[in-house]
Amino acid sequence: MIPISRPQIGPEEEAAVMAVLRSGMLVQGHQVEALEAAFAKLCGVSHAVAVSSGTAALHLALLANGVGPGDEVITTPFSFIATANSILMAGAKPVFVDVHNNCFNLDAGQIEAAITPRTRAIMPVHLYGHPAEMATITAIAQRHGLAIIEDAAQAVGATYHNQPIGGFGTGCFSLYATKNIMSAEGGIITTDDQGIAERLRLLRSHGSRVRYYHDDFGYNFRLTDLHAAIGVAQFAKLEAFTARRIANAAYLSTHIRHPLVVKPHVRAGVRHVFHQYTIRVPGEWRDAAVRQLQAAGVGSAVFYPVPIPQQTYYRKLGYEVELPVSDQMSREVLSLPVHPALSEDDLTTIAAAVNGLQLA
Ligand SMILES: *Cc1c(COP(=O)(O)O)cnc(C)c1O
Repeated sequence: MIPISRPQIGPEEEAAVMAVLRSGMLVQGHQVEALEAAFAKLCGVSHAVAVSSGTAALHLALLANGVGPGDEVITTPFSFIATANSILMAGAKPVFVDVHNNCFNLDAGQIEAAITPRTRAIMPVHLYGHPAEMATITAIAQRHGLAIIEDAAQAVGATYHNQPIGGFGTGCFSLYATKNIMSAEGGIITTDDQGIAERLRLLRSHGSRVRYYHDDFGYNFRLTDLHAAIGVAQFAKLEAFTARRIANAAYLSTHIRHPLVVKPHVRAGVRHVFHQYTIRVPGEWRDAAVRQLQAAGVGSAVFYPVPIPQQTYYRKLGYEVELPVSDQMSREVLSLPVHPALSEDDLTTIAAAVNGLQLA
């Protein structure tokens, strides 16, 4: 079976972890600093703050931007649950705006209608590694004095008109095991704002600048040096991994030609880093497609089968929003393997399996 994802772990990661273990410096040491410096450079910003997960990154990014109880944050219903949950963690209310059917990201044209006097921030998600419409989102945020918090968990290395994703406001990355580069668990927050960076560092470690003196409230969201060492080793491979993902996606887009399969669209001027290669099939045939692909030795996955406001917990909170495009996407999307470990044979198998789908 060709798996939908597979972490790429080599001798570099193994050696890096062993070196940290032998150093005895296990938390918030040189590897964390090196990882932060690498992300700041990648995003063209002056600060990066490493934390224990992508979820912690989103949570602290909201707090550091002053988002709290009584505030609203505009985001997408079509994402991993952590996007909206982080807004709840900050005590604020997620307000969901529908997505585009061709790129799965926030429909920027619908954002302004959702702004109220309580809106404090917009949280776009660069879903599957495809940058959201940042020109429009930035203009809206400036016009209304809103913060931008990018959920870039799936988009490390992506660019929007040559500007790095993660550099448009406060950028939040995840280094979870299945992401484009990983540290098993981990997160990074990027910002050009010195004050926000300082608040993030306090929030990360119990509000403390000097050990056992606590200037503020905070959490323990520190990243270990063991995880950071894996992240640093992976970062060195980021460009090679990304180039492979883009080449694999190009192969699939050239060779998949099933009349009922919609291939991913890449908007002009962006670098899509293909965390996922996501096709659409007629909703009533998706389960059959999954089974047929499996029979052909091809793993696949549905990201995501239920829009966030329709998840059980969000229904309990009283969400009843009708967001027709997200609903449709959640029934039709199907992600195929696109990761850097695919061989030419794997790619041939995947394209042939998709072209052979019986969807009627
Ligand atoms: C993975 C992911 C997160 C959360 O990251 P964790 O490191 O798993 O906490 C948030 N948003 C999106 C879109 C993700 O894919």
